Amino acid sequence: MNASVVSRPAAGSDNSESREVPFLLADAIELARNAVRAVADDAAVGAHRGVVAEGEWAASHRFAARLPGYRGWEWNVVVAACPGADSATVSELALLPGADALLAPPWIPWEDRVQSGDLMPGDLLPPKHDDERLVPGYLETGDPAVDEAAGEIGLGRQQLMSREGRLAAAERWSEGDFGPRSPMAAAAPAPCATCGFYLPLEGALRAAFGVCGNEYSADGHVVHAGFGCGAHSDTELPSGAGSPQYDPFDDGVVEVVDVPGQRD
Ligand code: SF4
Repeated sequence: MNASVVSRPAAGSDNSESREVPFLLADAIELARNAVRAVADDAAVGAHRGVVAEGEWAASHRFAARLPGYRGWEWNVVVAACPGADSATVSELALLPGADALLAPPWIPWEDRVQSGDLMPGDLLPPKHDDERLVPGYLETGDPAVDEAAGEIGLGRQQLMSREGRLAAAERWSEGDFGPRSPMAAAAPAPCATCGFYLPLEGALRAAFGVCGNEYSADGHVVHAGFGCGAHSDTELPSGAGSPQYDPFDDGVVEVVDVPGQRD
């Protein structure tokens, strides 16, 4: 009998197509197991988990992999036989993740992993290729803020911040701790725009941002013109109630007692 033409459903197969596997290939379990033993210890080959058809004349046998760090992985051995053959041969072997395999998380390019604040002394972080935050400093871009800066003699900068880069920075600063919607700004008596310690930026962001020069407040930080704090240069301490310094003296709560020897 030509064994290769007799077939039965794949044992343990999770193949939705449920293609039938020829007997010759389905019975080649020991052939497949020995193929794994040729590349791994006997103990690394676990139970047979099934066979699935890979085509009319090929099938994959799956064995549990008993390897440290490879929980849920399987040895996959592809066996094949040509029409009319009376024995199968091993085509290839691979260690593949099973349905519940422990897998490494998806690869994330390093440039997408770096977060604000990650840069340490001595680290190098060049901008991305085609970084949209930058434009060449020697070309006319049509953006007045960029072209004006680029035209300055001796500026020496090969790249300048693009409109997109400035908008992104302005959005971060506006939404940050020194933006107009921060809790500090909400409780401030007046905005930075009217404060003597407010040093407006030059360039395209001048209208909305400056640097605080007050050592008791946001010293050295870029602050939004609508930010503010209690150290605003026009701040005055309240007179009267509101501070223990101004509490009235209530002599009604004083008890007068005689102290022997203290009277005239
Ligand atoms: S002292 Fe306060 S109000 Fe004045 S610039 Fe600094 S943060 Fe703004």
